[in-house]
Parts: sequence; C-alpha cells; structure tokens
Amino acid sequence: MRTQVAIIGSGPSGLLLGELLTGAGIDNIIFDRVSKDYILGRVRAGVLEESTVALLDQANSSSRMHAEGLPHDGFSLAFDGRDHRIDLYGLTGGKRVMVYGQTELTRDLMDGRERSGAVTVYEAGNVQPHDFGGAAPYVTYEKNGRTHRIDCDFIAGCDGFHGASRKAVPDNAIRIFEKVYPFGWLGILAEVAPVSHELIYANHPRGFALCSMRSMTRSRYYIQCALDEKIEDWSDQRFWDELRRRLPAHHAEALITAPSFEKSIAPLRSFVAEPMRFGRMFLVGDAAHIVPPTGAKGLNLAASDVHYLFSGLREYYHDRSETGLDVYSERALARVWKAVRFSWWMTTMMHRFPDTGDFDQKIQEAELDYLTHSQAASTALAENYVGLPF
Ligand SMILES: Cc1cc2nc3c(=O)[nH]c(=O)nc-3n(C[C@H](O)[C@H](O)[C@H](O)COP(=O)(O)OP(=O)(O)OC[C@H]3O[C@@H](n4cnc5c(N)ncnc54)[C@H](O)[C@@H]3O)c2cc1C
Repeated sequence: MRTQVAIIGSGPSGLLLGELLTGAGIDNIIFDRVSKDYILGRVRAGVLEESTVALLDQANSSSRMHAEGLPHDGFSLAFDGRDHRIDLYGLTGGKRVMVYGQTELTRDLMDGRERSGAVTVYEAGNVQPHDFGGAAPYVTYEKNGRTHRIDCDFIAGCDGFHGASRKAVPDNAIRIFEKVYPFGWLGILAEVAPVSHELIYANHPRGFALCSMRSMTRSRYYIQCALDEKIEDWSDQRFWDELRRRLPAHHAEALITAPSFEKSIAPLRSFVAEPMRFGRMFLVGDAAHIVPPTGAKGLNLAASDVHYLFSGLREYYHDRSETGLDVYSERALARVWKAVRFSWWMTTMMHRFPDTGDFDQKIQEAELDYLTHSQAASTALAENYVGLPF
C-alpha cells in the first residue's frame, strides 16, 4: 500500500495535519497505537491562541468550537491575597484566546476525517518509520497478527513525547535540551461552574494554583504538588481545601465543589529536540518539544508546527518547490524556543521551588509587582499569552 504522507500519531498535531492535507488533495494515512475512545478519554490542554483557531477554521473543523468555546479577553494573576487582571484584549489591540478542551477539538478533527473518508489505523502495534534518510521511506505496523508496510513520500512524526519517531533517529543526529522542574501539577475535573469566568493563576506561599474551565458547567483546577505525591492520598475534600487556601478570600468563598470525575498528577518539563527534520521525516508537536502547561502553549505549538509543515508539503505537491520543507525545522524551532522561554518564565514566576530562599522570594514578588503595574511588562505577557504570530 502507498500514501503520500504517512502520519504517526492521531493526537491534535496528526489529526490537524491530516485534515489540512486532505483538504489540499494530498493523500495521507494516520497510524495510532491506541483506540479512538482511548484518545478521546485523555484530558489535556484547553486554551487556544487565535492562530490555532484560524488553523482549525482552515481545516473546516471549527464550527462547534465557535458555537461552544469560550472566548476570553483576559485572565487574573492572583498574589498577595488580591487579583490583578491582565487585559489581553486591551493590551494586544484586540486579541483574545479561546477556551475549548483538547478532547473536544480532537473529536471535531476525528469527525471531519471520518466525513472525508481519509484512513486512520487505530490500535496499530509497533508502528515504525524506516529509511527516512533516503528517497523511499516507509512505515510498518502490526495489526491482526500481520506486519503491514506503507510506502510514502514523507513521514510526519506526530506521536507525542513517548512516540517511536524521535526514538528512530540516530543519537548522533539529534540534540536534546531539557529542564525538569522539581514539582508537578495535581489536576481535577468537576462538573461545577467555574469560580470565575476568567482563568486565575495564583502564586501563594503554599504553592501555585490554577482555576481553569472547559465550559461554564465544567471546571478544571490544578495545584502545585511535590513530585512524590500519590494520587490516592488526595481525597476530593483535601484537594478543595488546599485549593481554597491558595486563592484570594473572595474566590475561596465563591468556590463551588463537587465530586471530581478525573484526577491526575503531571510532572512539569521543558524539552526541545533539534533539528525537527531528518531527511524525509519531520517531528511535529510533543514529539519534538514539551513545555510546562503554565503558559498554555503545548497544543498551540503543535498547531504552529503543523502550519509550517503543511505549508511546506503544499508547496512541494502543488508548486514542486522544496523550499518550505527545507526551512521547516528552522522556522518551527524559532517559534518553539520563544514559547519554551515564555512557559519557563511563567513557571518560574508562579511556583514555589524547594530551594527558594528569602532573596528569590523577594525577586519573585518584585517581578509580579512590576508585571502588574507596568503597561510595558503587562503587554509583553499578554503578547506572549495570546500567541506570537506564525
Ligand atoms: C498529561 C498531559 C496534560 C497536559 N495538559 C496540558 C494543559 O493543561 N495545557 C496545555 O496547554 N497543554 C497540556 N498538555 C500538552 C498538550 O496536551 C500537548 O502539547 C498536545 O497534546 C500535543 O499534541 P500532539 O498531537 O503533538 O501529541 P499527543 O497529543 O501526545 O498525541 C500523540 C499521539 O501519538 C500516539 N502515539 C504515541 N506513541 C505512538 C507510537 N509509538 N505509535 C503510534 N502512535 C503513537 C498517541 O497515542 C497519541 O494519540 C498536556 C499534556 C499531557 C501529556
């Protein structure tokens, strides 16, 4: 069997790339090691930049998002017992973000793919990219007791941080940059109205907290926790009590609680693999880079990679030009590093580190004070939060 672009991974980056390619008449097949239901059960990101929204428009996968998503014009930085609103809309000349869960976005892209009849192979075992250094790459996978081979022009490695694509690259061809943070995020989902109609990022002596939402009836809350915390030690009551302690009093009093239906601990990491192109294979999204979720950038970076790769592939097939593919890695990484910096900065400013001394504490307080009282500093935060241009 043969296709033009073999896409490994049916997460947001693989699905979005697939939809754009299909729309441009470029044949593609997606392979994922797990089932569709498993993918739709994963709770992850929820804040979309305007450029991501525009890309979903381009992929014809945005009608439900526009109907059900929540446009946000600002968010709150809470510290010292008070809220300090960051007016995204005012500071950026009219830009906003869209709150819409990754699960819903994934479902919309999957539905579009089914409508178009493009092929996705779920529960494909041992998916492997081969010969991407040469002119005739191919992908193999196992299904129903047989090994299948798909020949292709290009391979898109959209298979996330633990995927097979990056692992297939020889060690001497790739450089890794990594920072692991000494804490994690304990997150819950609950069927309750959010405590505020905008997100609250809270810096508190007991640790960071984030009040977020998926809809006006479903809330997503996080608290910073130690890396060795065990989920079974965190009853819902303990979580709600701890969250309340970290919020300004008026939010703590307004917080509505209910039994959680999802609870998990995620470690925080900054990770970049360079380059993002290896012959005829391209790494896209989490396969190439990870950011701590503090800046809400992971999913949006996956989207900007897709934009650059799709432009390159379209040029290749429609205009017979390889220029876009040749500059893919350079263009994608230039934007990736800016988002990595922003996510690291937000994380550093908002969390308590185990080795934070009195001096570091004072610096953090001075930075928050400066940020919320300087128009220039607030504008820089807002510009990065709504997303730098593609
Ligand atoms: C637990 C968690 C929580 C997160 N929370 C947030 C958040 O709150 N805010 C935020 O902005 N971002 C968050 N992120 C980041 C965001 O979800 C990712 O940046 C985004 O999912 C990237 O999309 P992707 O398609 O590149 O990778 P993924 O979503 O990881 O998709 C990769 C796909 O590849 C498949 N795959 C993996 N290995 C193989 C293989 N060997 N063969 C075939 N298929 C394979 C996987 O099943 C998956 O479907 C979170 C990520 C994680 C992991």
